[in-house]
Amino acid sequence: MRKIVVAIDGYSSSGKSTMARQLAREVGYLYVDSGAMYRAVTLFALRHGLACKDAGVDVERLVERLPEIGVTFRLAPDGTQHTCLNGEDVEAEIRRMEVSDMVSPVAVIPEVRHRLVALQQSYGRDKGIVMDGRDIGTAVFPDAEMKVFVNASPEVRAQRRVDELRAKGEQVDYAEVYANVCERDRIDTTRKESPLRQAPDALLLDNDRLSRSEQMEWLLERFREITERD
Ligand code: C5P
Repeated sequence: MRKIVVAIDGYSSSGKSTMARQLAREVGYLYVDSGAMYRAVTLFALRHGLACKDAGVDVERLVERLPEIGVTFRLAPDGTQHTCLNGEDVEAEIRRMEVSDMVSPVAVIPEVRHRLVALQQSYGRDKGIVMDGRDIGTAVFPDAEMKVFVNASPEVRAQRRVDELRAKGEQVDYAEVYANVCERDRIDTTRKESPLRQAPDALLLDNDRLSRSEQMEWLLERFREITERD
């Protein structure tokens, strides 16, 4: 069976990461969460006073300090993949609302994108990878053999995010999360550099209508069709 690249793109909290992680596990592929990489750079910016909600992002200084930012992944003892910022495990911190609020303005910066896209492409050199994000099928791996675009309504996505954050003990209200989801959609779809859009050859998965196991079944069927072809 030939090894392929699987690109899964979609809006914030569309459930694509869970889906991508599970698919990678089922087929024995490497999984890379590209959003976590943008979140790690955002956390660096917040920690160093280069970004804040009121003043926005100090683009010039952040770009200057990009060479200092190392983003890697490590396998935690429970088998899950954790994101590290300069060697420090920041997996929990990058999921917090402070980071979600600033990540899209950081992700519009072309220099940030160029650096992270190059790193993402290096992970896919030997194929056998599932990567999820916003521009994986359009910019990172335009030749990916399997591309999926996940769609779900903003209401369903906001509720999913509220449930996740509350399960982690974070106090959030639905209106705040809904506003964040809509704002990130707006920035992600309208930015100049590789905006979020469905690649013409991507398969569309409507997440509102399928259960998690139905989605997995659908993905695995598509995966087998593609890898067993020729
Ligand atoms: O996937 P997640 O919601 O964690 O991504 C956080 C943010 O990172 C997105 O809202 C988007 O602004 C940015 N992102 C991106 N390109 C990617 C992945 C994420 O611009 N490939």
